[in-house]
Amino acid sequence: MIYPIVKYGDPALERTAAPVTAFDAELRKLIEDMFESMYAAHGVGLAAPQIGISKRIAVIDVTFKEDPAQKLVLINPEIIHKEGHQRSNEGCLSLPEFREKVARPNRVTVRAQDVHGKTFERTGEELLARAFLHETDHLNGKLFIHHISALKRDLIKRKIRKLAKAGEW
Ligand SMILES: [Zn+2]
Repeated sequence: MIYPIVKYGDPALERTAAPVTAFDAELRKLIEDMFESMYAAHGVGLAAPQIGISKRIAVIDVTFKEDPAQKLVLINPEIIHKEGHQRSNEGCLSLPEFREKVARPNRVTVRAQDVHGKTFERTGEELLARAFLHETDHLNGKLFIHHISALKRDLIKRKIRKLAKAGEW
């Protein structure tokens, strides 16, 4: 099932999501639906709050279907290490059309549970590191625009208000 993606302004995006405690068939179905929804929206990462579900779940595929082995499910993720520096364009399915240069650590280790509840650690660099940070942020009610200057953030908010007024957001 493809869920619609909620956009900036929806309170689900600004809430701290709840930990997952049941690793059951319902969770597996939700994860399957999250991948389907992410691909339908042409994204490389999706967090559950973006489909209005306030749970600590994210799916990532930085290869966008090229390499199924790279599909990643992060449940209850925590960033446990970060180092280095990268700065490149970042976007978000919940802020369509907006992209900004965002400074992020270049190498990031995440600790998370898999679909069976088993804890694992994974280190990513560049785009994957960015995805770990971006998706974990979502679970803490944070968006990439929190990492840019207040000036740029206000400009984006103003444009969104205008779009919303015109019924285009
Ligand atoms: Zn996002």
